[in-house]
Amino acid sequence: MLPSIFQEAVPVLKKIERAGFEAYFVGGSVRDYLLNKPINDVDIATSAYPQELKEIFPKTIDLGIEHGTILVIDDGREYEITTFRTESTYADFRRPDKVEFIRSLEGDLERRDFTMNSIAMDGRGRIFDPFNGREDIHNGMIRTVGSPDLRFTEDALRMMRGVRFVSQLGFKIESGTLNALKEHSKLLKHIAVERKTMEFEKIAGGKWKRKALTLLVRTNLYTELPHFTQHKDALQQVADLPQLEGINKDQVWLLLLACIGDPDPQGFLKGWRLPTKTVRDRSNELEILQLRRKSGWSKPLLYRAGLEAAINVEKVYECIESTPVSSVEAVKEEYHSLAITSRQQLDVTGNDLMTWANKKGGPWMKELLAEIESAIITGTINNDKEAIRRWLQTCNRL
Ligand code: ATP
Ligand code: MG
Repeated sequence: MLPSIFQEAVPVLKKIERAGFEAYFVGGSVRDYLLNKPINDVDIATSAYPQELKEIFPKTIDLGIEHGTILVIDDGREYEITTFRTESTYADFRRPDKVEFIRSLEGDLERRDFTMNSIAMDGRGRIFDPFNGREDIHNGMIRTVGSPDLRFTEDALRMMRGVRFVSQLGFKIESGTLNALKEHSKLLKHIAVERKTMEFEKIAGGKWKRKALTLLVRTNLYTELPHFTQHKDALQQVADLPQLEGINKDQVWLLLLACIGDPDPQGFLKGWRLPTKTVRDRSNELEILQLRRKSGWSKPLLYRAGLEAAINVEKVYECIESTPVSSVEAVKEEYHSLAITSRQQLDVTGNDLMTWANKKGGPWMKELLAEIESAIITGTINNDKEAIRRWLQTCNRL
């Protein structure tokens, strides 16, 4: 029995077949199925041209019609369906200038990057594997379809994809493919930063990232990644950290900031074209990490960090220091024992202060609220309106 994610899509394949065309599951979903891994989404490839698909399915949306991909809505579900195609004339070592629709499955599988990604499966679970992808999956090997020199010069991003699969699957790169990767690593410079970042984030999220980062260093691919060129040693140092496996993508960015020590952390992250929120959060976490390394956690530092940042910082701290016992749970507990976790929780408002002091609003209120907040966090006073008023009176602040 095929997993339900495929079962649900079988009627779509059948509709295409009844119209006289071929249709298969392809790409990552078939690979992950053969690996017994969770399947994200199924990609369907077909011999029907986009126009022909539109005649079969009344509801479609063009995704990239010039590349032959349309979204089919069938029985309330969405399916990405791509017409078999070849990709010809690659200028600039990146995406093809021209795609040509074809009727042959094998031709379509041939344009794909690695043998493990070039396996098709029909609605009955029959496998079409002209490049012996199953054998490579069995042996944990990443091997290009056809000449690795040719495939990496056609599209240099494939080299990053190869390393990304090392990180996600723990596979080895087959020796011919690895040699070509070393040989052509410089071509990665032609690839848009955003596409490199997408792959790098998958590397950072993978279980075998130590292996993958070491590969980025050994193959010299790192020299074509933003802000990495001058930092071979720091990168290898990160790759060698025994606890690297246990940290997530966000924490990897923070770890890189800490280990590379770029004087402009925001510029470093912006160089990777990361979203503004990521730039802000990671830079802020770096400051917290530096304080945590210098003097340990305090209640005000935990309060300033917030729970998510505190966890990220502590995980990265543990990773850098290779601490034998995790302290993340203790940090969480301490965070939850804070009297307040945000200014909104103060049992006093600006209005209260104006009434008590019999003064008009102004910048003094903000300053006073900050002092009250700090006194509550450090445990000097309770978060209680009456206690706050008495404390202010004692300090002659009213
Ligand atoms: P994931 O599980 O991360 O989605 P995936 O293998 O499905 O991995 P996609 O980027 O979704 O990766 O691509 C789908 C399929 O398209 C791949 O399995 C591969 O067959 C083909 N493919 C993707 N990118 C390339 C490329 N740069 N060159 C050749 N084939 C590619
Ligand atoms: Mg995919």
